[in-house]
Amino acid sequence: MMRYPLLLRSILERARKLFPAKEIVSRDFSGLFRYDYGRFYERVCRLANVLKELGVEPGDRVATLAWNNHRHLELYFALPCMGAVVHTVNLRLFKEQIIFILNHAEDRVIFIDEDLVPVIEEIREQVQGLKHFVIMTDKDGPPPTSLSPAYSYEQLLAGASPDYRFPADLDEWSPASMCYTTATTGDPKGVMYSHRALYLHSLMIGMTDTFGLCEQDAAMPVVPMFHVNAWGIPYGAALVGAKLVLPGARPDARVLCELIQNEKVSVAAGVPTIWMGCLNLLEKENYDFSSLSRLLVGGASSPRALIEAYEKKHGIPFIVAYGMTETTPLTLLSRPKSYMRDWPEERVYALKVKQGLFAPGLEMRVTGEDGTDVLWDGCTMGELLFRGPWITGEYYRDPQRSKEALRGGWFRTADIATVDAEGYVNICDRSKDLIKSGGEWISSVELENTIMGHPAVAEAAVVALPHEKWQERPLACVVIREEFKGRVKPEDILEYLRSRVAKWWLPDRVEFIDEVPKTSVGKFDKKVLRRRFS
Ligand code: ADP
Repeated sequence: MMRYPLLLRSILERARKLFPAKEIVSRDFSGLFRYDYGRFYERVCRLANVLKELGVEPGDRVATLAWNNHRHLELYFALPCMGAVVHTVNLRLFKEQIIFILNHAEDRVIFIDEDLVPVIEEIREQVQGLKHFVIMTDKDGPPPTSLSPAYSYEQLLAGASPDYRFPADLDEWSPASMCYTTATTGDPKGVMYSHRALYLHSLMIGMTDTFGLCEQDAAMPVVPMFHVNAWGIPYGAALVGAKLVLPGARPDARVLCELIQNEKVSVAAGVPTIWMGCLNLLEKENYDFSSLSRLLVGGASSPRALIEAYEKKHGIPFIVAYGMTETTPLTLLSRPKSYMRDWPEERVYALKVKQGLFAPGLEMRVTGEDGTDVLWDGCTMGELLFRGPWITGEYYRDPQRSKEALRGGWFRTADIATVDAEGYVNICDRSKDLIKSGGEWISSVELENTIMGHPAVAEAAVVALPHEKWQERPLACVVIREEFKGRVKPEDILEYLRSRVAKWWLPDRVEFIDEVPKTSVGKFDKKVLRRRFS
């Protein structure tokens, strides 16, 4: 066979040759922008010439601070295809983390959406390595800014040649994109995605049993392009020639429902809270969702009530997926097997809430503390490990934490999971959140979900407190809904739990709090609670 490198270039060229008329719709600052893969290709070539003019060399990291839109998509292709690295910066991170990331990656050029310019203005002094600021706006010229030198993306493209020959002989192992984790402890960790990893991940998400992305689709990634390659959808869509719908800056439920209806979206992907918001709107207003053949939902666990509402009330298949920054991201996906179709509904939904089967191309293990595989019995917990062509082998310039993350060639997710006899994985907890009580493990997530089933409870977070005899015991921090305040006592929550969880899982204490502290990306920040109560 030929020694043919797996490069993003071949995805780009195929889209140009076969699908020049297929549409890309992008929600810009002043409305919807429409073009096709043909005109997209021409702009990607212009952009590559601009990048060359700015002195970008193969291997250079170039930062983006941008939403899901067509200019970001152009950067997704122009940079890797010319040999450089598109470094997407998570705009929801704290200021200190963004400063760390830009310095650590040593970006010299940054592309910024016009509404995000103040973010960079504020930290400019602390990031001395940045030399060029390209502002992405549909207005004539960049907005007034203290950043210098600042250019307008559109003006640069207009002045550049539409001819560019992307190299066909890049090394498939060379870095194409880069993203940092949100880091709940310590500094963010950088993950470099190779051409090879992104290419194979794109093929995999086109398989019928995974995302099933195909030419017939109109795909809408709601998951941000600034975090883990928007789950690989931009590359996967271009590979198969699917229509792409990019929902722009801060899309709310109404924007998303209108796009699904008007652009006839067939597959959309995002975290559970996005689909909760859309569901609330669907209860009040009418939208035509007949084009939607499936929703892909990951990043956090999906409550069963949400899955059932979409499937039973709206007839839209709801597919749970799991992944993380270090895994490009897709690794697990929950679809019932053919012979499960006849199972009683109760059993099918008990399966659908799980994170599912590992993707073709990967290997997976769940191991106990002694490093041996746990039983696939659906109840023994262990740490979830992966290896495969789109699993990271190291963190960027961080040998110490790279070493900690790998064990014998396997990547440790630090997620604690069970596997059932059919191979379906259920994520129980992140290892640092798990409560180790008298040699047994208690899942904080399961306790939280059970407590949140109480009608008076708005939010609940469960953390471990040190205990002399048992090592750790659970503490439940509970936010009571306004209308129930003063009417329920901590004892009522314990009473509610008594018939629902094992006796030794019952929290030692229930504390009422005003709000669960959140991280920059909206996940429960349990370390704050641990500090407060221990
Ligand atoms: P972070 O930067 O916080 O690690 P990631 O997006 O990489 O951000 O988050 C990955 C983590 O999110 C996983 O390790 C897991 O704990 C959680 N996660 C992802 N998908 C799911 C899911 N479908 N169900 C439950 N938890 C999930």
